Amino acid sequence: MDTKYIFVTGGVASSLGKGIIAASLAKLLQARGLRVTIQKFDPYLNIDPGTLNPYEHGECYVTEDGAETDLDLGHYERFLGIHTSQANNVTTGRIYNTVITREREGAYLGKTVQIVPHITDEIKRRMLLLGQTGNYDIVITEVGGTVGDMESQPFVEAMRQLQWELPEEDFLSIHLTLIPYLKAAQELKTKPTQHSVQELQSQGVHPDIIVCRTEKELTPELRRKIALFCNVKPGHVIESMDAWSIYQVPFNMEAEHLDTLVVNKLEIPGLPEPDLSGLKAFLERLKNPQREVDIALVGKYVELQDAYKSIQESFIHAGAANHCKVNVHCIHSEHLDPSNVDEVLGPMKGILVAPGFGSRGLEGKICAVKYAREHGVPFFGICLGMQMAVVEFARNVLGWADAASTEDNPDTPHPVIDMMEEQKKLTMKGGTMRLGAYPCHIKEGTLAQRIYGADDISERHRHRYEFNNRYLQAFEDAGMVVSGVNPDHNLVEIVEIPSHPFFVAVQFHPELKSTPENPQPIFVEFVRAALQYFS
Ligand code: GLN
Repeated sequence: MDTKYIFVTGGVASSLGKGIIAASLAKLLQARGLRVTIQKFDPYLNIDPGTLNPYEHGECYVTEDGAETDLDLGHYERFLGIHTSQANNVTTGRIYNTVITREREGAYLGKTVQIVPHITDEIKRRMLLLGQTGNYDIVITEVGGTVGDMESQPFVEAMRQLQWELPEEDFLSIHLTLIPYLKAAQELKTKPTQHSVQELQSQGVHPDIIVCRTEKELTPELRRKIALFCNVKPGHVIESMDAWSIYQVPFNMEAEHLDTLVVNKLEIPGLPEPDLSGLKAFLERLKNPQREVDIALVGKYVELQDAYKSIQESFIHAGAANHCKVNVHCIHSEHLDPSNVDEVLGPMKGILVAPGFGSRGLEGKICAVKYAREHGVPFFGICLGMQMAVVEFARNVLGWADAASTEDNPDTPHPVIDMMEEQKKLTMKGGTMRLGAYPCHIKEGTLAQRIYGADDISERHRHRYEFNNRYLQAFEDAGMVVSGVNPDHNLVEIVEIPSHPFFVAVQFHPELKSTPENPQPIFVEFVRAALQYFS
């Protein structure tokens, strides 16, 4: 079978959940036995989101191969249980960079380089790239942004061209829109959808299926009206009601027969019904928690839900694995200090200190670590959270009041966290951190070994600073154990305090690999420890 290409565009408003719809469809097709991947094309000029502040676009998701990507790739991996890569996230910046570099090399000598055909050719090349590996039956492409934006026009134009270049049964276009409910009129309104589809059609792309985000059920008349005005078959108008969990959406899409419409249009006969049993079992546990537990997430980007997306999702997975509901309390590290820490963290049964960059909010993070360490509250530090656990230990156990990370204080006499050697010579900021999957060897008889049930693991990274091995002996003598190291470079990956009920901190980002069907073990054990903790 040829690789088939499905394109998902969005209209009317942003944040409609295109990524979740794309991932849900991918899940259904995968559950019918097809090999599926998803890619996202983002219309901004950054080469990747690695240099963006989380307030701009939420979390930066890191793949195995070290690509810094849009957080939707996290959804793709969590829904599908597959690994994505650099090829799965392309920005306008990356497209232009390729074309302009090629122009400088003389590849277009004598020619005027233009958006059509040069930019659109490069977009099409990348849209087809994963399909050409032969590894996939279906490649779903999510086109970021909203149809009608100036920025997404070259992507839509590339789709338009592919619509005619690919065999008809290998191309499918889905448009996701919003059907707003007007309270005063007590009516769902279809006009914005009509306009959005008109806009798409004026750019030459005809949607095969329209998926309507709505808070109220679409009546049959309404579906007929949308079909009539948007030039699709009535059966091709799909309702996507607000769901209680994103993991419910594949089931909702199945109930609307989205997967069947897709396989029929793409002419893929003889597929079995989708087998969603793994996800269903997870959802059952998620729906029927037997207990609740309050866990603090201490970070400085807490105003924006999406800034810690993968951590939030990992708690959902780990909660379900423990048959409990995890109430994640986002606590702003800038507002945490010794005067209020008892009151704020007192009710918490577990404390997670989040990743981050820069000095803002660091003292609050250190204050949270100190509280957890001294009160025996289950503690989990991730990346900067681990680095602050190390700084706290140096200051308050080893008695080095001036200890710091050199990211925060380059002149500290006790640089317990210091920039990695190979980072010191770098001048470019984009894509130059220690990124992606690296192996970690776990020490015998440690909490880390009990958690993972393995001696060798691999996790993903995104950092420039590391534990300064010069101080390793002093830490171990004082009771903080290094339980995981990178076997090739001796970098400290995991620290723990064996005299504490549950104190573990990691330099890597375990949240990036948690899925509903394979919850991340540190999160699972952290939630279990929190359930057992009574202050
Ligand atoms: N800022 C720290 C570093 O670069 C931690 C990074 C992170 O938490 N992802 O090492």
